[in-house]
Amino acid sequence: MSTSASEIAATVTAPPGFFLERVLTVHHWTDRLFSFTCTRDAHFRFGAGQFAMIGLVVDGKPLVRAYSMVSPPWEEQLEFLSIKVQHGPLTSRLQHIRPGDGVLIGRKATGTLVPDNLIPGGVLWLFATGTGLAPFMSLIRDPETYDRFERVVLVHTVREVAELAYRETIEGLPGHELLGEVVAGKLTYWPSVTREPFATTDRITTLIQSGRLTDRFGLPPLSPERDRAMLCGSESMNSDVRSLLEQRGFVEGSNSNPGSYVVEKAFVTK
Ligand code: FAD
Repeated sequence: MSTSASEIAATVTAPPGFFLERVLTVHHWTDRLFSFTCTRDAHFRFGAGQFAMIGLVVDGKPLVRAYSMVSPPWEEQLEFLSIKVQHGPLTSRLQHIRPGDGVLIGRKATGTLVPDNLIPGGVLWLFATGTGLAPFMSLIRDPETYDRFERVVLVHTVREVAELAYRETIEGLPGHELLGEVVAGKLTYWPSVTREPFATTDRITTLIQSGRLTDRFGLPPLSPERDRAMLCGSESMNSDVRSLLEQRGFVEGSNSNPGSYVVEKAFVTK
C-alpha cells in the first residue's frame, strides 16, 4: 500500500497529460486534514472554483484523484487542501509528501463551481462542508468574484474547531495588502462546528430552514431573484441544501444554461 518516499522524490518525468510539480510546503491541520503548496507550470490555467486531477506516480503509473484548487488563479504557486483517508489509495500516500517531492497536476482544469454558470445576482452564498471549502478559497480571493456579486457569504461547516482550515487567512482578508480593498465590506465568513462547543453549532440546512442565515445579516429570505448559491460538500449536504433551494424556486445552472445555484461533490462515497 505505501509508496516509498524515494519513489515520490525520485519522480523526474511527467506522464502524458500531467505537469510534474515540486512540493513547496506542507501543513497538517489535524490527523484527518492537511494542505500543501507546490510549484505551478506557467501553462497551467484554471478558473477560480475549478478542480484538476492530481496525485503521485505509484509503481510507475499515475495515481490521481480530483482536487479543487485552493489558490486563486493569479497566484504563482498552487495550493490544495486534502483529507487523509486511512486506507485511501492516494491519500494514505499523499499525506506523507515533503518539500521537494514530485506531485502530478493534470493539465486540464474543469468544474461547475464557476461564476459563469450563475446568472449575475446580488448575494453569492458559498455553502461548504469539510474539504468542500477548497474551491471557495480560490473564489473568495479572485477579484472577479466581487465584480459579479455585490456580496459574498461563505458558510463553512465542520465537525471540530481544528477542522476550520484557513480560518485565519479568511478572517485576515479584509486587511490583505492586495485584496483588502476589494474584499472589505463584501465578504462575510460564517464558520459552524457541529460536534464541539462553538459560536455557531448548526448545520447549513438548519441555518437555512430556520431563517437564521439571512436574519443574521438583516437580509430578506433566500430568493432566486436576488440570491445565488454554490454548494460543495458531502452528498447528503448537497442534496439536502439543493432541495431547500429548489423549494424556494432556485434553478441549477450549467455552462450552457446559467442558473441561480450550482453544486459539486466534495468527494464521492464508494
Ligand atoms: P478514495 O478511494 O478516493 O476515497 C475513499 C473514501 O474516502 C470515499 O469513498 C469517501 O467516503 C472518503 N473521502 C474521500 N475524499 C474525502 C473528502 N475530501 N472528505 C471526506 N471524505 C472523503 N478531496 C480533498 O481532500 N480535497 C479536494 O479539494 C477534493 N476535491 C474534489 C473535487 C471533486 C470534483 C471530487 C469528485 C472529489 C474531490 N476530492 C477532494 C476527493 C478526492 O478526489 C479523493 O476522493 C480523496 O483525495 C481521497 O482519495 P483516496 O484515493 O485516498 O481515497
